Amino acid sequence: MHTTVRGFKDILPPDSYKMSFVENVAKEVFERFNYKEIRIPTVEYYDLFIKTTGETTDIVEKEMYKFEDQSKRVLALRPEGTPGVARTYINNKLNLKGENTKYFYIGNMFRAERPQAGRYREFEQIGAECIGVSSPYADAEVIIMLDMILKKIGIRSYSIEINSLGCNECRKKYREILINYLKNLYLCDICKTRLERNPLRVIDCKTDRDKFKDVPSIELCNDCRKHYETLKNVLTQSNISFNENPLLVRGLDYYTKTVFEIWSGSNEGKKNSLGGGGRYDNLIEMIGGEKTPAIGFGLGMDRLVIEMKKVNAKLYKEPKPRVFLAQLGELAKKKSLKIFSELEKNGILVAESFGRGSLKSQMRIADKLGVEITLIIGQKEALDGTIIVRDMMSGTQEIVTWEKLVSLVKKMLKAPIVIKK
Ligand code: AMP
Repeated sequence: MHTTVRGFKDILPPDSYKMSFVENVAKEVFERFNYKEIRIPTVEYYDLFIKTTGETTDIVEKEMYKFEDQSKRVLALRPEGTPGVARTYINNKLNLKGENTKYFYIGNMFRAERPQAGRYREFEQIGAECIGVSSPYADAEVIIMLDMILKKIGIRSYSIEINSLGCNECRKKYREILINYLKNLYLCDICKTRLERNPLRVIDCKTDRDKFKDVPSIELCNDCRKHYETLKNVLTQSNISFNENPLLVRGLDYYTKTVFEIWSGSNEGKKNSLGGGGRYDNLIEMIGGEKTPAIGFGLGMDRLVIEMKKVNAKLYKEPKPRVFLAQLGELAKKKSLKIFSELEKNGILVAESFGRGSLKSQMRIADKLGVEITLIIGQKEALDGTIIVRDMMSGTQEIVTWEKLVSLVKKMLKAPIVIKK
């Protein structure tokens, strides 16, 4: 009798349906934030992961499914999606294909980890990558999307852990401080070998984490500190709770500035990572592209389904957003996040695109989504505390104060829908 290979699994109903449900919810959320689907190959050159994920990471050192094909090419089954997306961004010159370079993917990843509950050798990840935007609003956007996906699939109990790893300059200084501190601790054999090569990875060691509790935190340069502070402010304004965790370094080499992870909170003591990500401003340049800032995340589908079962989450169909929020300029972007969460809190589903983009391109998206109302906030409105409310059926618009916005939108959405000619 044949069995599945250790670490690989069949996914049967109803779990297979739960997975499709999560995929659909995620797609709807991505659509609202104007992320486009991308499909990348399962197999890449092994070398791509050495250069990106990093030679001294667990994934590359111990867990890669590496093989030689008939033509003696050294290949690997992808252990994660970001390197492939970065490669395709360069290969296909996606930077030249219009202003929107926000992508999402859904696909299986392979890591030869020691199998246990919630840890498989083939698992599915939903990932999003926002490429070409250095602003901390992009960091906030991806975290807001993650939070939204989790809430919509019925998972309520989790924590969002965030940290900043700074830029190359901050890290150079931190490296010395860290080595000096860590060399006085009792380290496991692997960490001893990593201490000089990659001291940040030592803090990520899974054995006896208590010994790291007094590790000095990274000192950020002005630019990195400002970035991190803005991110925290925007998350707070958007009603996203988070926990600052100076020991969160993530396992991979390419991160700069913001890193984050979502931990399940439903089982006391042991916290499972449901997803994680961060900014990777150097990665695209490292593999031959132009210097391009970027941020992204990977969310583990298998673990989400386990969590949904634990909390007995119900599957429901998400209604389509009827309002689009367009914004122009940094200040407007900041204010629009607050307005966005205010509307959502009042049960009004809003689509938007916090990224770059002219008003014209944002209006095009609003049109495509078929929303009934578009809200427009520019620099002037952001300063005045007002917003333009455009009725997409009649084309008429009026300016209202933020205080009056929710009740006006509610009133307009209740009015009978006129079919557009
Ligand atoms: P990582 O890039 O390692 O942080 O992974 C992102 C997410 O993918 C994790 O938070 C998990 O939800 C999921 N994941 C990673 N490795 C595995 C695995 N071996 N089995 C199942 N899910 C995984």
